[in-house]
Amino acid sequence: MLEAWEDGRAARSGERGLILLRLAEPTLEEDACRAFSVGRRDAALLTLHERLIGPAAHALVNCPTCAEPLEFDVPLAAIRVTASEQPPERFELSFEGAPLAFRLPTAGDLAAPEAASADQLMRLCLLEGATPSAPAAIEALEAAIGEAVTTHDPQAVVALALDCPACAAHWRSPFDIVEFLWRWFDGFARGLLEEVHIIASAYGWSEDQILALSPQRRQRYLELIGG
Ligand SMILES: [Zn+2]
Repeated sequence: MLEAWEDGRAARSGERGLILLRLAEPTLEEDACRAFSVGRRDAALLTLHERLIGPAAHALVNCPTCAEPLEFDVPLAAIRVTASEQPPERFELSFEGAPLAFRLPTAGDLAAPEAASADQLMRLCLLEGATPSAPAAIEALEAAIGEAVTTHDPQAVVALALDCPACAAHWRSPFDIVEFLWRWFDGFARGLLEEVHIIASAYGWSEDQILALSPQRRQRYLELIGG
């Protein structure tokens, strides 16, 4: 887990999503994880959250109108979308007579260094046809991909309907399970390294030796060191 944390520290959200998916699906090869649709990735990450942290995600947001801080729990079961049938592997559309074929974005696409923008992601999802260059054609293809995701991979586009108790503003905010999990994971890794630091400073043991201790034993040594 510490290696995964190191890999993800300076990474983009899509890369962190793949790192976390590999923790969620430890028996799968990397290529199999990369092939997950984004919604399937997020469903696996909801399960990882339930296993590691609990059945609700603790959210902190500021009202976009009056900046009032809002703090609440999101029950993960309420945002889980029941998977329908297997989504199609290929979608087709015709723009001004030119046929185009595309597929749903995957966990691997979002982690790819060349997928930092919507435009680049669109290119990765294009299966057939020349990459559109006219703005109207790019817009049509991006809209078609967005529609295919909403219909066939809805777990990828979960949004929360929020109300501000201070100013009564109402808005929708995308729910990003990667962000929630990573925040917990970052705190967990930092806490673990702090424990290693305290125990190593007191006894001179190596990092490997300290990490090999059970959490209960580490806790007991920390109590002894703390007096
Ligand atoms: Zn407000």
